[in-house]
Amino acid sequence: MSHFDIIVVGAGMVGASLTCGLVDAGFKVALVEAGQLDCACDWPQNEVDPRVSALSLASQNLLTHLGAWPLIESMQRLQPYQAMRVWDGCGTGELEFTAAEQHLPYLGHILENRTITSALHQCLAPKNYTLFEHTKIVDMSPQDITPRCLSLASGEKITADVVVGADGANSKIRQLAGLPTREWDYPHHALVTRVKVSQDHANTAWQRFTENGILAFLPLSSPGTDPQGHYCSIVWSQPQAAAQAMQALPEDEFCHALSGVFEGRLGPVLATDPRHVIALRQRHAKRYIQTGLVLVGDAAHTIHPLAGQGVNLGLLDVAALVLTLQQARHDGQDLASLPVLEKYQQLRRRDNLRMMALMESFARLFGNQHPLLSLLRNSGMNWVQKLSPIKQHLAQQAMGVGPHLPPLSQAPKTT
Ligand SMILES: Cc1cc2nc3c(=O)[nH]c(=O)nc-3n(C[C@H](O)[C@H](O)[C@H](O)COP(=O)(O)OP(=O)(O)OC[C@H]3O[C@@H](n4cnc5c(N)ncnc54)[C@H](O)[C@@H]3O)c2cc1C
Repeated sequence: MSHFDIIVVGAGMVGASLTCGLVDAGFKVALVEAGQLDCACDWPQNEVDPRVSALSLASQNLLTHLGAWPLIESMQRLQPYQAMRVWDGCGTGELEFTAAEQHLPYLGHILENRTITSALHQCLAPKNYTLFEHTKIVDMSPQDITPRCLSLASGEKITADVVVGADGANSKIRQLAGLPTREWDYPHHALVTRVKVSQDHANTAWQRFTENGILAFLPLSSPGTDPQGHYCSIVWSQPQAAAQAMQALPEDEFCHALSGVFEGRLGPVLATDPRHVIALRQRHAKRYIQTGLVLVGDAAHTIHPLAGQGVNLGLLDVAALVLTLQQARHDGQDLASLPVLEKYQQLRRRDNLRMMALMESFARLFGNQHPLLSLLRNSGMNWVQKLSPIKQHLAQQAMGVGPHLPPLSQAPKTT
């Protein structure tokens, strides 16, 4: 039976980043993935991943430290955004954040999730780690038996000092560990797709709060097949029946309806890719750790996509866990012990909860059409727009910048 310092379960954006960071730090790591690792070389040029992420500067820093950012840049599917405009469709409230106000070239980047995973998987290829692909975890030894033993669907058994669940929202590792969650459905399903618009998106992320949901237009780079075209990824959160009705509309009717709800800010919507509807659920593990076990990314927390923070929080988990395990090894501590893993939980749980509470209050505030609340939020938005310290604080939260970040989330030092 093979033994590892750490087994990471799940090779999504979070698990693949974590594996890179841990291998770079000198740990003996195994990565278990139910599917197969992505390779950009397998993509047809005109195929687009409908799942996109708005990556913060802190996430960009992490991917730079891991060596994935130059690979992402070389794929030429990266769209920086320099402004963010948010407005209330039921009033006059409007907020604008710009990179210029922050004295930065951009606020973040929009990119297809597959671009991120395939760059990370490319980074992993030459590294010294063990990959178990196309196999799932089917069982795990309980916490009082150390080291932890994982049984794979392939019949293999592997052990590790620490098992990390990076296996997404429906984490099998979380389930096998019996770690409870607090969770509930948002009253929204998200309709996601790529659309072609008639006007330049002005490198701006647009978000309109409507009477029954939230509509975001995120700028995308023009594809090689249509270099002069203007494209956006949309995330349209609305009640399930409304999302499904929009998904079922013929393309021209959908484009017409979408242009109307977006108030034609980028001119008529001209075309759309296939539309996907995703149920949105808030989930938070009450504990992220057990002896010899840790949860990261969506396995630990999923939040409403309205501020595009899900994977950014997961990548902050990665930086905090690498730091915690490095320090423990340096100090000669047992990696599997609760006092060590508590440090990771302390670094991340409060921040994740704070961001989740903020998103929850936005979703509730904008989901309520009471005239008094509508008046309050419209005057509140206009007030924040004029009040630079609060605006500055909100912008910094969204960009994920701040003085107390782990080293992997900070900008690499230039010599
Ligand atoms: C509509 C929408 C829009 C979003 N927009 C943004 C955004 O703009 N910015 C942002 O930061 N976040 C955004 N998010 C959130 C973001 O997509 C997630 O936070 C992110 O994908 C989570 O990554 P992960 O690696 O933790 O999990 P996943 O991507 O779910 O990866 C889990 C991996 O584990 C593997 N796996 C699962 N079970 C097993 C098993 N038993 N054994 C082995 N392997 C297993 C899976 O195959 C997969 O590869 C959005 C989410 C939604 C729904």
